[in-house]
Amino acid sequence: MNAFTMHGGTLHAENVPVRNITNEVGTPCYIYSKAALESAWLAYDKAFGDHPHLVCFAVKANSNISVLNTLAKLGSGFDVVSGGELERVIAAGGDPSKVFFSGVAKSREEIAFALQQGVRSINIESPAELERVQSVAVEVGKVAPISVRVNPDVDPQTHPYISTGLEEAKFGVSMQASLHVFQQAKAASHIEILGVACHIGSQITTITPFVDALERVISLVKTLAEMDVDIKHLDLGGGYGIVYNDETPPSSQEFMQALLDTLAAADIQLPISIEPGRSIAGNAGILVTEVAYLKENTEKNFAIIDAAMNDLMRPSLYGAWHTISPVTPPQEGTPERVYDVVGPVCETGDILGRDRLLAVEAGDLLAIHSAGAYGFTMSSNYNTRPRAVEVLVNDQYWATIRQREKTSDLFALETVIDW
Ligand SMILES: *Cc1c(COP(=O)(O)O)cnc(C)c1O
Repeated sequence: MNAFTMHGGTLHAENVPVRNITNEVGTPCYIYSKAALESAWLAYDKAFGDHPHLVCFAVKANSNISVLNTLAKLGSGFDVVSGGELERVIAAGGDPSKVFFSGVAKSREEIAFALQQGVRSINIESPAELERVQSVAVEVGKVAPISVRVNPDVDPQTHPYISTGLEEAKFGVSMQASLHVFQQAKAASHIEILGVACHIGSQITTITPFVDALERVISLVKTLAEMDVDIKHLDLGGGYGIVYNDETPPSSQEFMQALLDTLAAADIQLPISIEPGRSIAGNAGILVTEVAYLKENTEKNFAIIDAAMNDLMRPSLYGAWHTISPVTPPQEGTPERVYDVVGPVCETGDILGRDRLLAVEAGDLLAIHSAGAYGFTMSSNYNTRPRAVEVLVNDQYWATIRQREKTSDLFALETVIDW
């Protein structure tokens, strides 16, 4: 569903005019739609039919506790990559027994915390990490449920920074090496093998890489069975692509059907979990910003906005495209021009959108679309810019779910030393 549409010439978030929100909370402002979050999660859940499954939202995409709570209430599980994200899930009312804990460098404290909270699985990313989990499990007197994250070495044909499943990536262990890790796990006193995990990358817009990866995982499960290692669960990760501009990804229904067909063809009935982040939250959020100034030089027109790369890093980091549209129609006589939409941060790379045809004046509001995932969570305080306010909309209601930071918050933990 698209929760951000024009009615009566002005952009609405569900049934709330965006301008009503920014009039109160100012800009830059992240706005998320509850209905869009829910419908994206439910589409995955429904696609599995009666195959045993768990849809785990990847918390790093959007970790606001109100967003997590919205999904937890539907029964969502969660994929976390730090102890901090697990704390958020708990604060949001999420169920730790539905949490998968991934990440290449979990600390002893994080592992102990995860074991005490009773997570479903700690996803092991190296032999050294397995040793650490065993030793922490002994210390806290728990048996650690684990999955081994394997690297199926498929090319997801996405941006190199968001491709994780290649042999050269730092994530997981190779298929070959995983055999040894599983044996090591089997022999360990405080480890219980749950399953195999993989996650091949992000913003993948075709089915083939997922099917290739699953086929390799299935052949691994068969090899492991011959070695007397019993696999009870498959965690197939996230990475399902969304429409930012002109991409044509399959629907979540189509993605899931391809996975189910691949499992059926191999006669595998194991429960599976998936970990979509972007495809649940990405198009459930926008970033609203005000045009501060218009400026031109001999080469370019610039629309300088009050949001910047510190608020939404994806364009600067990956050259990512986000659609930028006016919140209200231009005033009579405003000329249409091609603008670079840029922020106030002192970096040439602080560009939110290149070569956009817009009719805008200073003071106008713009919406930067598809900003619900990897938007706020990747934001920073660079240039001592307080991070944006976050708002959740539910039909004709809205509420602030994270206040705008104050400048004093930004140096509250700092000290002037009298030397
Ligand atoms: C980032 C991540 C995800 C989510 O990826 P999306 O592209 O947002 O769906 C899932 N699992 C793991 C292990 C991840 O690191």
